[in-house]
Amino acid sequence: MVDFNLTDEQKALQKKAREFAIQEIIPVSRKYDESGEFPYEIYQKAFEQGLMNTIFPREVGGPGLGILENCLIVEETAAADPGITTSLFDNCLGAEPIIIGGTAEQKERFLKPLTEELKFIAFATSEPGMGSDVAGIATTARLENNDIILNGRKMWITNGGVASFMSTFVRLEGTKRHKGITGVVIPMDLEGIRLGKPIPKMGHKASNTVRISLDNVRVPKDHILGEPGNGFPIAMKTFAHTRPTIGAFATGMARAAMEYAIAYSKRREAFESKLSDFQSIQFMIAEMKMHYDAARLLTWFSAWEADQGRDNTISASIAKAFASDYGMKTASDAVQIFGGYGYIKTYLIEKLFRDAKLYQIYEGTSQIQRMIIGRYMLSKYDPHFDETFT
Ligand SMILES: Cc1cc2nc3c(=O)[nH]c(=O)nc-3n(C[C@H](O)[C@H](O)[C@H](O)COP(=O)(O)OP(=O)(O)OC[C@H]3O[C@@H](n4cnc5c(N)ncnc54)[C@H](O)[C@@H]3O)c2cc1C
Repeated sequence: MVDFNLTDEQKALQKKAREFAIQEIIPVSRKYDESGEFPYEIYQKAFEQGLMNTIFPREVGGPGLGILENCLIVEETAAADPGITTSLFDNCLGAEPIIIGGTAEQKERFLKPLTEELKFIAFATSEPGMGSDVAGIATTARLENNDIILNGRKMWITNGGVASFMSTFVRLEGTKRHKGITGVVIPMDLEGIRLGKPIPKMGHKASNTVRISLDNVRVPKDHILGEPGNGFPIAMKTFAHTRPTIGAFATGMARAAMEYAIAYSKRREAFESKLSDFQSIQFMIAEMKMHYDAARLLTWFSAWEADQGRDNTISASIAKAFASDYGMKTASDAVQIFGGYGYIKTYLIEKLFRDAKLYQIYEGTSQIQRMIIGRYMLSKYDPHFDETFT
């Protein structure tokens, strides 16, 4: 049986997130985009209302919700403001490697404090010289008695400047590529950690993004997730679990862009008609709806697969790439429908257009998603017809 109905609990969660987005985020969205300040007040309220840390397990005081529920929340808040939502969701990204690879004791030690009061946990694989090629991580870890000593730089780290903890991936000294990658949770007040200033960005300005230097940072060995050198699969499974949510981000952003474009096209007149009377505008809006529905279904399917405990690597890449690429197209077409008013700061569509681009870049670019899907198709895909038919 296939069922596309949401449960009453899921509908209630979706409604709560939509009300939060309308009442708490939209009114201050422009203000934070202009100031670039970190909107603590919004996160405090989201924390109190149970809209943060949604995937944290019940054993550590979290609500223990699934990735599908996370997608429902994120679609609503990203429709209101993608940047504010990037930092809202980031605790789930930072927590995911611990949920996947941590012991019960590590979950209690690192995640429980985040459920007791508003605190942040960042996630860091990227470095100044590497983003897509995670096996190319250069930050080193040297094992020394009961500690590991970390040296290197992490780059573009969301919430890095406000976080109490960071789930990061480093390389055991003397190893190459995938084999030496090690996951480790770092308290951010350790000696040797230096934070850069918030990095100025095209969009997502309310979200904190920094460079982090690690100079002889001494971390107890019991902060390592799993065995030293076995971190690469934890990082990849983390992405499989978080990419559906990026699909939901892009879907929510595209939904808002589509709705703004529809409303504007019904108001604006040209050639003694409403814009919405022109077939070329109607076709653009029809395409937006086709892509929105498809992106949402792909996203929900991948989230559902992950929540079932299945390997959702491929569906996550499909959902992320499709929703991000067509989200960008929808934002661009919406600006087109607004004409000159789409290009200036009068309407929120200008901001959505700037925000949309990031979805094609972070958590694996659209090219990297295609690489993952392409490799699967050429090695593991099971054809329906016998190859002798060809
Ligand atoms: C605002 C923001 C927030 C971020 N937050 C985080 C965070 O919290 N934690 C974190 O770890 N990282 C974060 N990132 C980093 C982000 O994940 C990387 O920027 C992204 O993975 C791309 O890496 P790169 O920038 O090094 O690009 P590169 O890897 O240098 O790629 C450059 C271009 O080449 C293409 N390319 C690379 N390899 C291939 C290939 N094999 N085939 C075809 N094309 C290829 C890419 O698709 C891209 O178009 C963030 C980035 C930004 C901008």
